[in-house]
Amino acid sequence: MDIQEYKGIYVFIQQVDGQVAGVSHELLGKAKELAKDMETEVTAVLLGYHVSGLCKDLASYGADKIIMVDNKDLELYSTKPYAYCMCHIIEKYKPAVVLYGATAIGRDLAPRVAARVRTGLTADCTKLDVADDGTKNLRMTRPAFGGNIMATIICPDYRPQMATVRPGVMQKIKPIDGASAPTDSIDMEIPASEKDVQILEVIKKESQKMDIQDAKILVSGGRGMGCPENFKLLENLADAIGGTVSSSRACVDAGWVEKDIQVGQTGKTVRPNLYLACGISGAIQHLAGMEESDVIVAINKDEGAPMFEVADFGVVGDALKVLPLLTEEVKKA
Ligand code: FAD
Repeated sequence: MDIQEYKGIYVFIQQVDGQVAGVSHELLGKAKELAKDMETEVTAVLLGYHVSGLCKDLASYGADKIIMVDNKDLELYSTKPYAYCMCHIIEKYKPAVVLYGATAIGRDLAPRVAARVRTGLTADCTKLDVADDGTKNLRMTRPAFGGNIMATIICPDYRPQMATVRPGVMQKIKPIDGASAPTDSIDMEIPASEKDVQILEVIKKESQKMDIQDAKILVSGGRGMGCPENFKLLENLADAIGGTVSSSRACVDAGWVEKDIQVGQTGKTVRPNLYLACGISGAIQHLAGMEESDVIVAINKDEGAPMFEVADFGVVGDALKVLPLLTEEVKKA
C-alpha cells in the first residue's frame, strides 16, 4: 500500500428522518481543524434516499466537498448496503482519514468497513490530533482498561486511518450562512448479495425524556442526593427551568437511575449551557464528561469538594434544602 496516495479527511454523515445527526456536525468541525494541520480538505460522505436537501447543511458545517449516494436501498440504515457503499468510496477516492460518530450506527458500520478495506480502527475516541513529527499521522486517543488510562493510537502503515468518535466531545463550528460545496453524486447499483437483510418495520422507542446530550440545561444529581426518591427534587427544578435530569455514576451503580443519564468518562459527554451539579463530588471521571459545559453551578455540603474548582458559581449547603428553595424562587420569577 502506498500511503502517499491517500488524501483528505472523510466524515460519514449519519442522517435519520431527514436530519443530520449532531455528532456528524461535530465531526465536520473537528475534521476542519485537523485538515488545517494536514493541509487537506474535508469531504462529507452522505448515504441515504432523497438526501440531496442536506448538502447545504453539510457545507454550512464545514464540508469542502460532498460525496453522495442517493439510493432507495439506503433509505433505512442496514449494515451491508452501507458498508458496501463506504468501501466502494474508500477504494475509489482513497481518503487518508475516515471518521464516524460512535453511535449505534457508527459502531456497527466502521468495524465492518475497516475489516473489508483491511485497515485499523480506533473506536470510541475522545480526542483527535495530528502528529507533529512530520508524518502527519492522525493521533487517536480513547479511554482504555475501563477508563483507567487514556491510550493514544496511530495507524502508521495502513490507510485510511479510521476512528469512531464519541458524540458530544468535539465542537461544531458556527454554521456559515449561504455556504455551498461541490457534490459528487454517485449512481451505484447495490448487488443483491448485499441486500439479504430486509427491514420489515422500524419501531421507535417511545421516550418523553430528552437525551442528556441534547439538553441545554442539565440538573445533575450525585450520591449526595441520598436516595432515589430525592431525585424528585431534581426533576422539580428541571421542570421549572426547562432542564433535564442527569446523574453521576455512583447513582447508576446504586441502581437509583438508568445508565442512559450517566455523565462522565464511562457515561455520556455533555456540553450544556448550564450544568447544575447537586451532591456530586467532582471526581475526575465525572468532570471528563461535563467540564466543557458553558456555566457550571455546584451545590455541595463540603466546601472542599473538587466540583467547586470547576464551578462558575457554588452553594455550600444541603442540596435537599437548597433545591426546593431554588425551585420555588424560579417559579416566582
Ligand atoms: P461521591 O463521590 O460519594 O460524592 C457525593 C458528594 O455529595 C460529596 O462531595 C458530598 O460532600 C456531597 N453531599 C453529600 N450529601 C450532600 C447533601 N445533602 N447536599 C449536598 N451535597 C452532599 N463517575 C461518574 O460520575 N461518571 C463516570 O462516567 C465515571 N466513570 C468512571 C470510570 C472509572 C474507570 C472509574 C474508576 C470511576 C468512574 N466514575 C465515574 C466514578 C467516580 O470516580 C466517582 O466515584 C463518582 O463520580 C462519584 O459520584 P458522586 O460524586 O455522586 O459520589
